Amino acid sequence: MSSGSLLRVAVGPRFAAPLLDYLAPAEGPVPPVGARVSAPLGKGRRTGFVLEHLDKSEVPAERLRPVLEALDAEPLWDTVTLEVLCWAANYYGHPLGQVLAYALPQQLRSGGRLPAPPLRWRACGIASDEAPKLLARAPRQREFRDRLLEAGRGGLAEQALASLTPDWRRIVRILEEKGLAEPFEPEVPEPADMLREEPLALSGEQSAAVSAMSMDRGFACHLLDGVTASGKTEVYLHLVEQVLASGRQCLLLAPEIGLTPQLAERLKARFSVPAAVLHSGLNDGERLNAWADARAGRARLVVGTRSAVFVPCRELGLIVVDEEHDPSYKQQDGFRYQARDLAVMRASRSGIPIVLGSATPALESLLNVQRGRYAHRRLTKKVTGTRPPLARLVDLNRHPPEHGLSAPLLEAMSEQLESGSQVLLYLNRRGFAPVLMCPDCRRTEECAHCDARLVFYRRRDLLLCHHCGARRRPPPACENCGSPLQTIGRGTERLEEELQARFEDYPVARMDRDNVRGRRRLEHILGGIRERHYRILLGTQMLTKGHDFPSLGLVGVIDADQGMFSQEFRGPERLAQTLVQVAGRAGRREQPGLLVLQTRFPQHPLLQQLLKEGYGGFAASALDLRRLSGWPPFAHLAVLRANAPEAASAREFLDRAKAAVPESGAGSAVEVLGPAPALMERRRDRNHAHLLARSTDRARLQAFLGRWIQAVRELKRPRRVSWSVDVDPAEIG
Ligand code: ADP
Ligand code: ZN
Ligand code: ZN
Repeated sequence: MSSGSLLRVAVGPRFAAPLLDYLAPAEGPVPPVGARVSAPLGKGRRTGFVLEHLDKSEVPAERLRPVLEALDAEPLWDTVTLEVLCWAANYYGHPLGQVLAYALPQQLRSGGRLPAPPLRWRACGIASDEAPKLLARAPRQREFRDRLLEAGRGGLAEQALASLTPDWRRIVRILEEKGLAEPFEPEVPEPADMLREEPLALSGEQSAAVSAMSMDRGFACHLLDGVTASGKTEVYLHLVEQVLASGRQCLLLAPEIGLTPQLAERLKARFSVPAAVLHSGLNDGERLNAWADARAGRARLVVGTRSAVFVPCRELGLIVVDEEHDPSYKQQDGFRYQARDLAVMRASRSGIPIVLGSATPALESLLNVQRGRYAHRRLTKKVTGTRPPLARLVDLNRHPPEHGLSAPLLEAMSEQLESGSQVLLYLNRRGFAPVLMCPDCRRTEECAHCDARLVFYRRRDLLLCHHCGARRRPPPACENCGSPLQTIGRGTERLEEELQARFEDYPVARMDRDNVRGRRRLEHILGGIRERHYRILLGTQMLTKGHDFPSLGLVGVIDADQGMFSQEFRGPERLAQTLVQVAGRAGRREQPGLLVLQTRFPQHPLLQQLLKEGYGGFAASALDLRRLSGWPPFAHLAVLRANAPEAASAREFLDRAKAAVPESGAGSAVEVLGPAPALMERRRDRNHAHLLARSTDRARLQAFLGRWIQAVRELKRPRRVSWSVDVDPAEIG
């Protein structure tokens, strides 16, 4: 049996281990690693991925079956992207077959073919004065031919023809037979005519950043650290222009394209090159086409959320990760990976530059700057020259709020509204009230499936669990003692009502996931804000992301303490990032904005430092704290989480997993802590607990995990326990 004709294949409904060995197909070339095959499994056939070529198999030769067919002649990914996928599977401890399946559009996952390149049609052949004779008795063919003639050498896309008549294909085929029309593959537009609009003239800081970054030929990672509205996006656009002009593709990642389409829109407004925008609103067919266009190099710009880091590109020249600190780059279930980190690895293996942009860089990225791995490019001023907002802490102990609003905040609001400005209020809590409680026996309404209180929605007369989605009607009175129930605290729904009652003349736009579900609705509200129909903007995290509100005079943070006492090691970093991002919305074109932070802890060091030294100062001392306490990025973590309907089984499994810790060498570079219950122990009717593995040496943690995960896979599992590994976790949980 010749070497290479044995294949190791991930096959089966979930592409997980165990992998199976097959013979190469009886005919044709051996499918390469990264190609799909159709393989016999039991009595049926299944799509599988070739993961490895083997020299020999443990399976006796007579039991090896050949795969039925190779579905791809080439790997689906370019070499680097396939390497990154394999590396990620290994690093994050996830089965490679599942990783490959995850990285594919649904139709390819289930065995569909790569779409052929879309063709265009143009008129050709006979001099145009003879054609009418040939078509004298075929008015529809003649009409088609006229359309193609009008379109000139650029011809018409098949889509455009299809919109003329359903049987367009028959008609162009006849024209083709008569030598009057021909199909062709469209060419990529010449770099010279790819600009749709003139680029903006850069500010001094911007052009310094652009020239520093365009010096590089090979790999370089730039942290573009620029305050909100300092023109980071414009810097990306200038770099993208250079790369497109050199004939290469650009890959841009953004946190959420569905609800923050600005980046994609600005790219499309600037460049007339074909773009593949991968967002959650695409149907399966559109997603497949976008993916295939990127792979074949037809799309010159590829824009997407975290999973786009795995989209193959034929000739990639630049990667941009916008809002690189955003938590959504970390996938939190299934295949748990960090897309920003993988983007850096992909750029490094491709030998191309990468730009990580943020107004509030992740501590990891700042440490990489300190260690000389990333170059620090800074934009310190707003493009408009507007000074940063004037910030004021309001001590709620001294100014007790009425309906959530303290007197100083109310005053500032009235002043701004009367002078014609808009006002933004940030409250990261949805619903009417987070707690419904009996004042007599203090019973609260809790979720039956989670350790969590149910959130009260008054308009819908509903109690809703934000963790599992459970819902029910609120009881008319306390089920213990019959007293009428009271709402405690406030969410956006309640504040909206209160604002409308108090500021009758100023319409309120509420932006949260309950009120803004789709892109349409979002655009409608953003339109109303732009046209200044809405004067008060109230919202959750959704409001902090990237939107430009030019008439905003004041930003009020209703509860700056929310998240201040988080037990997660990234808690302070997240809070600081959120506050700075919200504050960045303030400031009209001509004058600095106002920022009012309501707090019960005005002396809290985090607030004090943010106010006095800005995000940079905060980040420097936060990094010091992490160093002293041995948290990332100074140590590396992996969490082994388990859950089961009963706490005891999850615990028992983790005890076994801890006992299965492989012997490590002298000084044991890896410590394993726990088991400990999760912060929210009961969630969705299951009990959650974890073990934490920690080391200051990433390579040794990796070596350890490789052996440990293998050992844990082989453990006897108590009934109904499920488990997962999370390497470089965003939170411990
Ligand atoms: P950021 O991405 O840092 O928030 P943007 O690139 O979105 O900043 O710029 C903020 C605003 O300033 C946008 O409206 C943009 O069009 C404008 N802008 C950016 N750079 C310039 C420039 N060099 N000259 C004029 N306007 C600019
Ligand atoms: Zn009661
Ligand atoms: Zn629940």
